Amino acid sequence: MELIYEKSVAGRSGVRIPVSDVPKAAPLPEALRRTEAAGFPEVSELDLVRHYTNLSRRNFSVDTNFYPLGSCTMKYNAKVMEQAGALFADCHPMLALLPGGEKHVQGPLSLVHGLEQQLAEITGMDEVTTQPLAGAHGEMTGIMVIAAYHKARGEKRKYVIVPDSSHGTNPASAAMAGYEIITIPTAPYGDMDLDAYRAAMNNEVAAVMMTCPNTLGIFNPHIAEICEIAHQAGALAYYDGANLNAILGKVRPGDVGFDVIHVNLHKTFGTPHGGGGPGSGPVGVKKALIPYLPTPRVVKNTDGSFGVESHPEGIGRVSDFFGNFGIMVRAFGYIILLGGEGLIEVSEQAVLNANYMMAKLKGEYELPFDMTCMHECVFSASRQLKDGVHALDIAKYLIDRGFHPPTVYFPLNVKEAIMIEPTETESKATMDAFIEVMLEAAQLTRENPDALHQAPETMPVGRLDETRAARAQQVCCEG
Ligand SMILES: *Cc1c(COP(=O)(O)O)cnc(C)c1O
Repeated sequence: MELIYEKSVAGRSGVRIPVSDVPKAAPLPEALRRTEAAGFPEVSELDLVRHYTNLSRRNFSVDTNFYPLGSCTMKYNAKVMEQAGALFADCHPMLALLPGGEKHVQGPLSLVHGLEQQLAEITGMDEVTTQPLAGAHGEMTGIMVIAAYHKARGEKRKYVIVPDSSHGTNPASAAMAGYEIITIPTAPYGDMDLDAYRAAMNNEVAAVMMTCPNTLGIFNPHIAEICEIAHQAGALAYYDGANLNAILGKVRPGDVGFDVIHVNLHKTFGTPHGGGGPGSGPVGVKKALIPYLPTPRVVKNTDGSFGVESHPEGIGRVSDFFGNFGIMVRAFGYIILLGGEGLIEVSEQAVLNANYMMAKLKGEYELPFDMTCMHECVFSASRQLKDGVHALDIAKYLIDRGFHPPTVYFPLNVKEAIMIEPTETESKATMDAFIEVMLEAAQLTRENPDALHQAPETMPVGRLDETRAARAQQVCCEG
């Protein structure tokens, strides 16, 4: 597509500016005047509308097509949540923090408080902060809270244990919070090697971080024991709850023994994501950790009104105000709309859909951990590789057939990984259409592997040099 600058025609304009009838005051000083024209594109309104409308049609979104990007939970978000989010658009966040301002924002404050309570109930925690702006941000906040807890007890602990099937942000967040990472390998049944974990645990370990279900889509049946082993050594147990979509109303990590959890509102709770934001990664903790939560916090006064309080022992602010408020409104609405029964159905349907996908594709695609999965399933393109076809080729072929590719090459402990997460919002018909194309790709691999190497052929650009695209970004065009 042409850039808007390339559409520019000298003298063309979208507006006719009337000749000024304002008397000229003192002329602009010479130093402030342009020596050259600004160089804006000269286009008509229609040129401009078509340019941006056509660009917008190149966006891939869940509103247009199936988006089974594993680990990301790209579920469809009902439009009524957008209406809910817009309700508070004109409420200035500063009001909550100005002296006496609280009385003007009782509604929003009660929503923050209400969402914190809903999330505490869902996860089995005692209190929640909504400040963190993403899952990874929540992880770092949670680990900082853990560090503050140990510090207050006069303990020096320097390690965080992370299984290799955890999300990559887990070791990254713990390292950013100042810890050294001990990595535990995956056992043959897809979860953390318990003996290796037991051997690694000692009184210098601050916490163990578990992603559950893990990035293989497998639920770890030993999490209660894992928490117990941590607690015996004085360490805490962190639950990466970004995959909560699989266990809503089924397991409360707090009941199992976890001390800290983060959840991703932008994955599980019906709020949009993609393209880098906006997100929200609230953190829940058990009683002993409440003093260290980020400050300030929304509190409910004895008369039923809501106020804002600082906590001197807290780790301080991790974001402006109380977090990404628009996202919180959508999540609050989603939880109320679905209710307890609805949330349980979400997880049941998400898990059923992933297992359906797994059962239908495992005849053609290698399933490295062949067991009932949770909300996503992980294949390997290792059989296809024998014919010279990589996971990437299959991903590109899917683009030509109108589907967003699944996540590929993640998790790292599966070679040629293809990670599929259908989510609960897709119909059987849509999943069947996707399955058919996946089976077609496997057949094409045997008959004409080169066809897959050529894909995508229907897109404005074909294969990109992804390394160069990431390293030498050119987000803006030259005039
Ligand atoms: C997505 C995800 C994260 C990170 O969440 P962001 O909001 O992208 O920072 C962490 N852990 C798991 C398991 C995830 O799926």
